[in-house]
Amino acid sequence: MIILEDVIVKYGTNPVTIALNKISLKINQGDWITIVGSSGSGKSTLLNVVGGLLPLTSGAIQISGLDLAQLNNNEIQELRRNTISYIYQDFKLFNQYTVLENIIVPQLPYQDKKNLITKAKHLLTSVNLDHRTNHFPTQLSGGEKQRVAIARALLSEPAILLCDEPTGNLDSENTDVIMQLIKATHSKGITILFVTHDQKLIHYGNQILTMRDGNIKEHYIHETNDKKK
Ligand code: ADP
Ligand code: ADP
Repeated sequence: MIILEDVIVKYGTNPVTIALNKISLKINQGDWITIVGSSGSGKSTLLNVVGGLLPLTSGAIQISGLDLAQLNNNEIQELRRNTISYIYQDFKLFNQYTVLENIIVPQLPYQDKKNLITKAKHLLTSVNLDHRTNHFPTQLSGGEKQRVAIARALLSEPAILLCDEPTGNLDSENTDVIMQLIKATHSKGITILFVTHDQKLIHYGNQILTMRDGNIKEHYIHETNDKKK
């Protein structure tokens, strides 16, 4: 359902950095692909092009049969709103909004508010944060912030969850909690792209992609009928 064909992304003009150097990749619905590689190898760029956040220098990306290059800005925004969600190492919560507001704010212009609040409360229960509904991000621990970010990411019922080192700022206990939540998300059939530096997290998922200098250095695909792991 995600197909990258000879994707090249360059930054700058003088000097030019080739962040992705002709990457081809096929990711099926329900896959979990772990992306590893040293800093600067192109991992974030790869997530950002799949997320429709960055134009390609050349090549093509298809998501659910849609060629990203053929979409206008509104259609890209719509794809990001309905199909693709992100979680980040630094959570990216809005400090001026409560937990509940953080979860509904991105969808508020597009959906009924009451309905969103009902859904957000369900999600808060599922990430074990009912008791934090009206708190502000500054009152939360890192693990709690990431749980809020996960609830926000899932509100749109996305097909794809892009994870950019989501446990990078967390201790091992909170890392376990977040990994269990991502596993639960994956078991509902959501495709996971997961960037990490953490060797302990690499075994999650059925594809492991090792990047180096914008190239795929190694690509391990574990074919399985049991995607739950
Ligand atoms: P990683 O996520 O693996 O650390 P990135 O995708 O962030 O790698 O970066 C890949 C390469 O592109 C690096 O050489 C980085 O310095 C360069 N790069 C990333 N973003 C930009 C940018 N906005 N402008 C110029 N160069 C960039
Ligand atoms: P912008 O495109 O200007 O960043 P948005 O309203 O799209 O503004 O999003 C604001 C912030 O909300 C984003 O930076 C991101 O942290 C968060 N956000 C929006 N949509 C999502 C989503 N689907 N999944 C996770 N975080 C999201």
